[in-house]
Amino acid sequence: MLNFQAFLGFVNGSVDKVPLSGGAYHEWTNLISEAEQDVFNSDCACFLSAHGLDSLSEAEAMLFQIPYDGTKSKITKINAGVYPNSISAKQAEGYKQLSIPVRQDFEENQNINAETQAHGATRTDVYFRPGAFDKITIEHEALHSLTGKSDSDLASQLGWDGSDSPSVFISKALRDNRCDKRTAGKKKK
Ligand SMILES: [Zn+2]
Repeated sequence: MLNFQAFLGFVNGSVDKVPLSGGAYHEWTNLISEAEQDVFNSDCACFLSAHGLDSLSEAEAMLFQIPYDGTKSKITKINAGVYPNSISAKQAEGYKQLSIPVRQDFEENQNINAETQAHGATRTDVYFRPGAFDKITIEHEALHSLTGKSDSDLASQLGWDGSDSPSVFISKALRDNRCDKRTAGKKKK
């Protein structure tokens, strides 16, 4: 006979991804529907294509995003796949920092606002800190889903000069190129 309690414990322990809910979910739906259009303005489109990316793929990555609450999700980082695709699953088993629950990472690192599944063939899961994300956060995370790359590899692809941390650089580059604005800026003469 199946020990139902033990089974439930197993399910809760291994598959515990808590969906983003309430106000944070509503905020996410509003932001992502704008972001999916904003990335097509010509400033953002030119920026992405100059770095081997494109607006359509970026918008598609957002379309497939499934938002979870990073502060509540008990799934371990390794099971959540929140590590670069360049690291094999076998290699990842050796990294102690990936054995902790996602929510512990959010708890211990208050500067983390989002983490994304960058490992695996299907990269859809994004863990957010409620109240601490905007369109740029969503777009930044979608770039991880799209490319499977780490912050430093992604920042390098986007022309990182080393002046900021790679994560800060990625977000700044998106913002500077109006990827969170509906229209392109007026050309300076
Ligand atoms: Zn990042």
